[in-house]
Amino acid sequence: MTSASDRTTKSLNLADFVPRSELVVERVNVTKPKFPVIDTHTHFGPLVLGPNYTERYDTAREVERFKEAGIKRVVNLEVVWGEELDRLLRKIHPYEEFITTFSSVDVTKMAEPKFESYVRSTLREAKEKGVRGLKFWKDLGLSLKDADDQYIAIDDPRLKVIWETAAEFGLIVLLHVADPVAFFRPIDQYNERIEELQRFPEWSFHHPALYTFEQLMRQQENLIRDNPFTTFIIAHGGSYSENLGCVSQWLEQYPNMYIDIAARLGEFGRQPYTARKFFEKHQDRILFGIDATAGYPLGYQPYFEFLETWNEYFDYSLSETPGQGRWKIYGIGLDDTILEKVYYKNAERLGL
Ligand SMILES: [Zn+2]
Repeated sequence: MTSASDRTTKSLNLADFVPRSELVVERVNVTKPKFPVIDTHTHFGPLVLGPNYTERYDTAREVERFKEAGIKRVVNLEVVWGEELDRLLRKIHPYEEFITTFSSVDVTKMAEPKFESYVRSTLREAKEKGVRGLKFWKDLGLSLKDADDQYIAIDDPRLKVIWETAAEFGLIVLLHVADPVAFFRPIDQYNERIEELQRFPEWSFHHPALYTFEQLMRQQENLIRDNPFTTFIIAHGGSYSENLGCVSQWLEQYPNMYIDIAARLGEFGRQPYTARKFFEKHQDRILFGIDATAGYPLGYQPYFEFLETWNEYFDYSLSETPGQGRWKIYGIGLDDTILEKVYYKNAERLGL
């Protein structure tokens, strides 16, 4: 007769593998941030919560929840304009001081003859309503098409009016470009995020009709370089947190570029030596964010632990199996001066 342990020794499904670490190391407990935090990457609207978002959370309760977590202000990033923007702002009222909003414009109108005046009036209205910046999502580059059925490139010259008008009106432009590199690779045994792609096959962008990751990175760089008067925040670690050397070069070359660290803790935290040097070198250009969403659990704790401590080998997310790859992370023990910049001073300097 074979025992259960014999059977698992011979064969075990990856999904069933949930090892408990036996490592015994000192661990500093962090529950609250050392300084008040501005979370520059959150969602209070339809992008993550869907069209019925207004029924999915109570705004006053959410503000309390964020405050309890040590957050002093948030930036709400939504691809909305016109009436949908009004609806979102009504939902957030009267907490506009706590929840700063970024809105957007409809880029699929770019071939229309009056696109330029449409952009100017949309941005002017948004600014008058208190909007602080513009948000563009990965659908720009990966799914939105022009009138000729071509995917719209991020650096399409027809969009230039948006970046120039944003600069003129003092609106910051935040873009979520592409996605983790592994999402552009084949879904096979070599893919470091295979479990996630098996669960959400629609997150794969490994398709011959689509721009490759490398093409999207070139478009992103063209955009930043060719619009030097526009301030860009490139979300999710500058789109390429797997390669901080590359992001570092961009930040050196383009003073109008900032990054946030939202939803990339697993990337920064698995390369603690490189990440620490990166945070030291670019301490004035990194914004704190986690991609927190109204009504959902707030996963701040591991971010605080990563930034503030030298703790070793801990989970970057709250789930039992880490959702973005099977590895653990390490703290980078930032000095207070850098910590303050990342937590809120850089955001304040940008008026967020
Ligand atoms: Zn987001």
